[in-house]
Amino acid sequence: MTGESISSIATALVVGGGIGGMATAISLAERGVAVDLIDLDPEWRVYGAGITITGPTLRAYRRLGLLDAIKAAGAITSKTRLFRYDGTHMLDLDEPVIEEGLPATGGIMRPVLHQIMQARVRELAIPVRLGLTVDALDDREDGVAVRFSDGTSGRYDLVVGADSVFSKVRDLAFPHMGPAQPTGQGCWRISIAKPPGLDAGEFFLGHANPCGITACGPDRVYMWMLTAHEDRESYMDDEELFVTLKALLADFGGNAGWIRDNMTRADWINYRPLVAVLQPQDWFNGRIVLVGDAAHATTPHLASGAGMAVESGIVLAEELARADDVGTALRAYQDRRFDRCRDVIETSVAVGKLQLERGDPKIHAHMLEDALGRLNLPF
Ligand SMILES: Cc1cc2nc3c(=O)[nH]c(=O)nc-3n(C[C@H](O)[C@H](O)[C@H](O)COP(=O)(O)OP(=O)(O)OC[C@H]3O[C@@H](n4cnc5c(N)ncnc54)[C@H](O)[C@@H]3O)c2cc1C
Repeated sequence: MTGESISSIATALVVGGGIGGMATAISLAERGVAVDLIDLDPEWRVYGAGITITGPTLRAYRRLGLLDAIKAAGAITSKTRLFRYDGTHMLDLDEPVIEEGLPATGGIMRPVLHQIMQARVRELAIPVRLGLTVDALDDREDGVAVRFSDGTSGRYDLVVGADSVFSKVRDLAFPHMGPAQPTGQGCWRISIAKPPGLDAGEFFLGHANPCGITACGPDRVYMWMLTAHEDRESYMDDEELFVTLKALLADFGGNAGWIRDNMTRADWINYRPLVAVLQPQDWFNGRIVLVGDAAHATTPHLASGAGMAVESGIVLAEELARADDVGTALRAYQDRRFDRCRDVIETSVAVGKLQLERGDPKIHAHMLEDALGRLNLPF
């Protein structure tokens, strides 16, 4: 979707070419802004996990015109099955379709999603510079003077910090903000061949370490598991990751048990301690603004961090098109995003706390259902 053109700015620098940065760059370029995109990674890669794309996230990708490509390269489904951890079926959550023609929910491999977004960035002829960050930002009335890490400089009407949870833009321009905080849990992920017969998303609850499976294509899935974080786990090598995850799955049945019995050392396995933070307002300072995890980093309990990042990029462009001046647009952007992102972060952290306290899985399921219902409302 292109929408009204933007007259409040002519040029923008987007720092960070991940999910939120690319969504922002695409949304601004489609509305006529001359965008430069930079990323610290010289190869502009993303690690090999799968990602769950909920209905609201698919809706945001539809606004970017990327839904068909995601449907073709990923996997979509209409339901999530809830099991006891031993594989006993509890109930099916029917995922409502929130817009006509929109799939209910789905999954895709992260590198594939990145390729789809990168292709759109290239199609829009957005200049991309890699292996680069910003070293200094000087916000002036008529624009932001930028010094890049390779010694070059530039001037932009707007600078967008989409450089994720350890944001350099945030460190440079937002002294009232702080780092994300550990939540006490860690997330295991394995990317593996699809268990035979799996035809929906699956959750395995009622265990200290809940897990779930999402299809990411015709023959691939990823499985996640949440555990209480122990410091030593931050330093595991590949062999330890394999052996520990297999042991953590010892009590599980159904397709989680199938994954335990069929996982190999060649499968991609990752462990990551979880952090979250809702940065305090304002999310803008003069002509510098934050989107995505730089402003609203959440845990994966609602599988909505990427969706929030894409929505933020779209809303930023919409508000810049609506307002006559940058200050009004950035405040309107913040007003539209703050409570929605707060809901995602607070609910995700609360679900994690409940899991750590071995709370009732039914309360867990209701919290997820209620929050996902709120997220289905228009953004
Ligand atoms: C374990 C786990 C599982 C998750 N699962 C899901 C899920 O299933 N569904 C979902 O919707 N969300 C999920 N998320 C959340 C989701 O991954 C993030 O919310 C989303 O990627 C945020 O997008 P972003 O653009 O802000 O950051 P990113 O996608 O991380 O992109 C940031 C980019 O900035 C670049 N960069 C970093 N520093 C600099 C710098 N100083 N200068 C220039 N560039 C820089 C990086 O190279 C990267 O390309 C999960 C998160 C975690 C931790």
